Amino acid sequence: MKIENSTLKKVLKKYREISLLSHIKATLDWDLNVNLPPLGSETRAIQSSYLSEMITNKWLDTKFRSLYEKAVTEKLTTVEEKAIIRNLGYGAKYYYNVPKDIIIEKDKTASEAFIIWRQAREENNYKKFLPSLTKLIDFDKTIARHLGYKDNPYDALLDLYEPELTAAECERLFNGLKKELVPLVKKITKSKDYSNTVSFVGASNHYPTPDQERIVHYIMQHMGFNSQAGRVDISAHPFTTELSRHDIRITTNYKETDFRESFTSTMHETGHALYEQGVNPDYDGTPLASGVSLGIHESLSRFWENMVGKNPIFLHSVSPIFKSFYQKQLHAVDEKSLIQSFNTVQPSLIRINADEVTYSLHIILRFEMENELINGNIQIKDAAEVWREKSKKLLGVASATDAEGILQDVHWAYGSFGYFPSYAMGNLYGAQFLATMKKKVDFDAVLAKGDLLLIKEWLDTNIHQYGSLYFPKELIKKVTGEKLDYTFFLNYLTEKYSRIYNLK
Ligand code: MG
Repeated sequence: MKIENSTLKKVLKKYREISLLSHIKATLDWDLNVNLPPLGSETRAIQSSYLSEMITNKWLDTKFRSLYEKAVTEKLTTVEEKAIIRNLGYGAKYYYNVPKDIIIEKDKTASEAFIIWRQAREENNYKKFLPSLTKLIDFDKTIARHLGYKDNPYDALLDLYEPELTAAECERLFNGLKKELVPLVKKITKSKDYSNTVSFVGASNHYPTPDQERIVHYIMQHMGFNSQAGRVDISAHPFTTELSRHDIRITTNYKETDFRESFTSTMHETGHALYEQGVNPDYDGTPLASGVSLGIHESLSRFWENMVGKNPIFLHSVSPIFKSFYQKQLHAVDEKSLIQSFNTVQPSLIRINADEVTYSLHIILRFEMENELINGNIQIKDAAEVWREKSKKLLGVASATDAEGILQDVHWAYGSFGYFPSYAMGNLYGAQFLATMKKKVDFDAVLAKGDLLLIKEWLDTNIHQYGSLYFPKELIKKVTGEKLDYTFFLNYLTEKYSRIYNLK
């Protein structure tokens, strides 16, 4: 990548320090989740927030700021230069518009809120969390005011997680989805074929961890994960983190009563990792390195997890591998049972356990709640009840307890309003990418042969390499030739599940 503009060159030199500090912080956070002994967490929190403050200070550094502000006014010529300044603008908007004491106060409130939320969830006591939630919503309303917005304060928050996404756009997409998903879920769960299969997971089954590890390594290698530039470890909740260009870490979790989880969640995290490993190396240390948004990242991880990993043709091609490891456990299991068990559709209370069809409904619920809370359309004290009503309407189930309702997710305890919609956006982007890929790649044949590298290569060429060069809207248009359309996802689900469950 050639940078012509001399001011921008200087900005990038300084930005490299921000990138370095962020990677050092990511290393500490990875260690916290994978290795840290329980008593180490207090010191680690201090180390981590010290680094956060250093990063904030680098942004606020007067030399850096004046160089950046000068670069904004200069004529930039290449696509890369323009994208760099646009991406820097996101950090700048946050650090230069929101007063530093508000950023620090919110961080502090969120660390306290996290501990209170954990207790409140354990005690199933929403009232206990109410004061923290009220403060955090107030902080985010204030932050939205400082960031600025046209129609809706929630837009300013959405934009922090998924650039250019607005509440109106979410509403348009999610209303379309909701209308079709609710009846589709009913149709599947009422079908004759539903749950009419042999079970092979649960308490009476045993799948030793070492076997699962071998399968996990096998699938990562087949997807094209570069193990010289990354590794897999174990943590309570699987995640992916980038510690440097040549060090992408994923984690997984082994459940000895069910081998499916480590398999599909490893495919999910490897999807995130392949994105990071596939970014143009020239972008290293610049604001173009790394995936462009949470939504695009999630589209790729879900693509591998659901559209590849749970695809009936793919499951047919990997079932001999499962059977070679689990001869005894799977000998009575027919292929239909295997495929249906990977693709069980079951409206449930908990988002993180949700299947591919009901998952977006969980997100729509959260989007509607956030939009109303930030706009003051519902009272925060009534939110647990509103959650129950929405859950009943969207999923057909509602929990009597707040622990399994409004208190189930950590996001609000971190004060991350605006984060959730990116998950559902991922589903929509992914289905649209798939439809485009199918025009060039014989997807079914590739899955039948287990030739996953062909899929990775398509993603490398069309998406991964660009890192943060294009914003989601532009990337979708560039890759698929159309703007985002939720019907790709609906068609994908209808077609797949009609086949699996013999729907008419
Ligand atoms: Mg993910």
